[in-house]
Amino acid sequence: MSHPLSSFSGIVRENEPLAPYTWLQIGGPTKYLVEPNTVEELGKVVGVCHEAGISVRVLGGGSNLLVRESGFSGATFLLSAPTFQSVRRNGNSITCGAGAKLSHVVTFAVGEGLGGLEHLIAIPGTVGGALRGNAGSHDGEVAQYVSSATILTKDGVVRRVDPSELAFTHRASGVDGVAIVDVTFDLVPGDSKALTKRQQTFWILKRRLQPSFPERAAIAFVDPVGFEAAELIQQAGLSGSSEGAVRMSSMFPNFLIASTGATSVQVQVLLDRVKAGVQDRSGVQLQQHLQIW
Ligand SMILES: Cc1cc2nc3c(=O)[nH]c(=O)nc-3n(C[C@H](O)[C@H](O)[C@H](O)COP(=O)(O)OP(=O)(O)OC[C@H]3O[C@@H](n4cnc5c(N)ncnc54)[C@H](O)[C@@H]3O)c2cc1C
Repeated sequence: MSHPLSSFSGIVRENEPLAPYTWLQIGGPTKYLVEPNTVEELGKVVGVCHEAGISVRVLGGGSNLLVRESGFSGATFLLSAPTFQSVRRNGNSITCGAGAKLSHVVTFAVGEGLGGLEHLIAIPGTVGGALRGNAGSHDGEVAQYVSSATILTKDGVVRRVDPSELAFTHRASGVDGVAIVDVTFDLVPGDSKALTKRQQTFWILKRRLQPSFPERAAIAFVDPVGFEAAELIQQAGLSGSSEGAVRMSSMFPNFLIASTGATSVQVQVLLDRVKAGVQDRSGVQLQQHLQIW
């Protein structure tokens, strides 16, 4: 049947379930799933969507995403083609496609003797997702080393932007556009062996603090400045609490864990209950980390 994206049939799938693309494995289909091969193709499809009134979103590694059972009635873009996964060095800079895995970029940088990103090693997902949410750890955030990025605007125009336009804040950004297409990091030259050791240390420490794949997990709340969400949840007696087939992990209290039969409503009910419980117990208002589609 003909639809506004018919002329891109080689890269568009209709009614594609989104659950398998997310760590929580919850949620319904997207009307269109688009996997463009080039930036130009991405721009063209986004332009057609804009003209046809089709909403557009980008899916990264799905490690910070809850999709509702109703799914998404627009076009979801997956930056899976080699162009969007490329990682290359230029002097002390690294430019990578937004679809590249963050851990891959960190390992590449370390291998090249370029430091700064090691502490991000165990964060799942893509570079685009990391920029969108200014992913980070106690040791810093992704924004620190970003020197520029390429974004695609809603009407399909590609634009180079500097960090001020990306408007980074604590675990958030104000990216004004549909998609982050690529990112350039300015890094600090160092000894590759020493950086590899540093990366390994971060990997070991971080892996002790989080569930690992194939656990259906997601971070629930942003750590408020000066606090640990996990501690606040524990103090409120809510670690291990559950709603249907979704629970707050007992071992890693700021992580949600889904099991068979989990629904997006259960996740939201549990998030609201934990938020209210923490507010009652400690007066701190938690802000949701998880993005909801
Ligand atoms: C086990 C585990 C550990 C984690 N540890 C950390 C941690 O230490 N620190 C931390 O900050 N987070 C952590 N997270 C959360 C998550 O990994 C990060 O938020 C990650 O950066 C999300 O990237 P993603 O590619 O998976 O994004 P997705 O989940 O796919 O998407 C998240 C949001 O980003 C948008 N987005 C994705 N790609 C693009 C793009 N190219 N252009 C525009 N928008 C885009 C999506 O539309 C969506 O709104 C953890 C999650 C898990 C499951």
